[in-house]
Amino acid sequence: MTTVRVLAALVAATSLAQFDCVPRTNRPQAGVYQVSAVRFATEPSYPTRFLVAGADSTRRSPLAFTIWLIQGSDRVVLMDAGFYRQKFIDRWKPENYGRPSEVLAANGVMPESVTDIVISHIHWDHLDGADLFPLARIWLQRAEYEHYTNDSGAVLDRAIDPDDAKMLASLRAAGRVRLVDGDSVTIMPGITVFTGGKHTFASQYATVQSRLADGRIGTIVLASDNAYLYENLEQHRPITQSLDTLSNLRAQERMRRLASNTRLIVPGHDVEVFVRFPKPGNGVARIE
Ligand SMILES: [Zn+2]
Repeated sequence: MTTVRVLAALVAATSLAQFDCVPRTNRPQAGVYQVSAVRFATEPSYPTRFLVAGADSTRRSPLAFTIWLIQGSDRVVLMDAGFYRQKFIDRWKPENYGRPSEVLAANGVMPESVTDIVISHIHWDHLDGADLFPLARIWLQRAEYEHYTNDSGAVLDRAIDPDDAKMLASLRAAGRVRLVDGDSVTIMPGITVFTGGKHTFASQYATVQSRLADGRIGTIVLASDNAYLYENLEQHRPITQSLDTLSNLRAQERMRRLASNTRLIVPGHDVEVFVRFPKPGNGVARIE
């Protein structure tokens, strides 16, 4: 081998070695996501006893209204869709309200880029915004759907808002709703949903495989309202609004086993999420 060829080979080997040293965080990988909590409104003072079973009746807690952005190499997934219909805004008068689609757009995620929305349960503050995302497939537990509504958009249990029931029916007619059959179902690579939280008839929570701050892949649990606050999780207190408090506590125990670390369990309405995960800030908390 001539000196030139040896040098060329060395240069090639060095660049390959350098390529190998590119931090793994920069490499997109199917089934591995970056997860962020995105806050779109705040209720400054809500009775804590409606969130944490047995809480002192004098206590009040701020509530964050949140959607969870799950960005992968080949899809953009939301857990829950927030709300936007004027009647909810008029009724709740939330502070610092931004329409979920516009809050995401301000953070570089256009509504038409959202491929999938995992709806944890049918309450208005989680489901109402589903039709803000024109191309997304909507994932919902079949038992949840069938308990609360049907393909005509009827209200079979008043926990679902009539307009949201009609919206679901029209999304279903458009072929955009995927009904999930039960517990521990992997609905797409790296995202698995679980039942048993019993916030509603078949509320679900999700695990997401994610690249963490240290570069390793770990499991994040998005609890949604199956655990409203860190206080539920950390003091083993069921959520107040549950159809089965023992099942809710068992689900919270299971979340602890599923998460790579208990700090990676993200409750549904706790403003503290944005303190524990301060980056990048301005209403967005990267869970890592
Ligand atoms: Zn909620």
